[in-house]
Amino acid sequence: MSRSLPVPEKLTILADAAKYDASCASSGGTKRNSRDGQGIGSSTGNGICHSYTPDGRCVSLLKILLTNSCIFDCGYCINRRSSNVRRARFTVEEVVNLTLAFYKRNYIEGLFLSSGIIRSPDYTMEQLVRVARDLRQVHDFRGYIHLKTIPEADPDLVRQAGLYADRLSINIELPTPESLRRYAPEKDAASIQDTMGSLGACIEESKADRRAPRFAPAGQSTQLIVGADASSDATVLGTAGSLYHRYALRRVYYSAFSPIPDSSAILPARPAPLVRENRLYQADWLIRYYGFSVEEITDGLDGGMLDLAVDPKLDWALRHRDQFPADVNAADRELLLRVPGLGQRTVDKLLQARRHRTLRLDDIKRLSGTVQRARPFIVTADHRPTRLLDRSALRGMVAPKAEQMTLFG
Ligand code: SF4
Repeated sequence: MSRSLPVPEKLTILADAAKYDASCASSGGTKRNSRDGQGIGSSTGNGICHSYTPDGRCVSLLKILLTNSCIFDCGYCINRRSSNVRRARFTVEEVVNLTLAFYKRNYIEGLFLSSGIIRSPDYTMEQLVRVARDLRQVHDFRGYIHLKTIPEADPDLVRQAGLYADRLSINIELPTPESLRRYAPEKDAASIQDTMGSLGACIEESKADRRAPRFAPAGQSTQLIVGADASSDATVLGTAGSLYHRYALRRVYYSAFSPIPDSSAILPARPAPLVRENRLYQADWLIRYYGFSVEEITDGLDGGMLDLAVDPKLDWALRHRDQFPADVNAADRELLLRVPGLGQRTVDKLLQARRHRTLRLDDIKRLSGTVQRARPFIVTADHRPTRLLDRSALRGMVAPKAEQMTLFG
């Protein structure tokens, strides 16, 4: 590693090294701005807007590592001690100056800063906190800051991070403590969860008492790598569900494992399918916004794996046909949310509309844009699909058609 590399070269190395972290979305930040002529930067009430490059990198935040050197040797990580990659390290001042310079040029709306562990967890956390503190206190930076937390660091340092950052995250990385022990023997699942617990308590305390100092108002998040170990989707979702429940996490991000150069021999040679990651996000969404429990989604799955061919809501409906059809003129919101093809907004519009008239199939089409997917699962004034639901071919009728990929598509 060299501190003497020119900053642009460090940026190339350390922005590239940060791309493996998926947990950089920024929803839920508090509103700050510099319209009063003071300070630098702003963040909107709903968090800043993002755009993602086709490979999934968030480009509205300056997303970098402080360093890609690390004293740990986690098998799945490109930055691990034994990895043969070019190393670089920013100084605190360099990160602060880059953030300010990029912000002033309108390239970014905030900073996502993570780091390999250098010297010790405490030393590394101290450096991360210094960046955030300098930005806020010395430069009055009001943009969004997301700091990665080093779980083994002194709790007091982690608390300080929360005073300056909008969001904190600690990656749990693998769905079970056994996998973590196998692939990241220097990490400790209990310590990661302890840190999540104390962050959760600080976040709640700050929300409950307006006079308490602001603490990570955009909450905490984590990332789970999928497909590096043999854990099924049921296990992954079980872990995610328990983290949401116990630590009030804002988000769990799922990152499909993709082989890294010089990867450890204990890892799979092939990447996990991206569609698996997508199905997990859909299942996660159902758990957070559609009233499904983890068990409802995962019970009866073949080998505990989500169906890659259809989304989890459609899969659940096909496996629970006895719950349908739902009468759109009488069913409660909870059941309507389970109808394939009806999203939250459509259901709310539908509930509003049925106060004034009896709904027909055309009304549902108008409200949701299409009725093709919902049709077998609903009853309207002019439609009752009983025989459709009984048909063994129903799955083929409602599942999206497989498409031939174009060579240059
Ligand atoms: S501690 Fe973090 S940066 Fe270091 S090897 Fe493990 S995952 Fe990579």
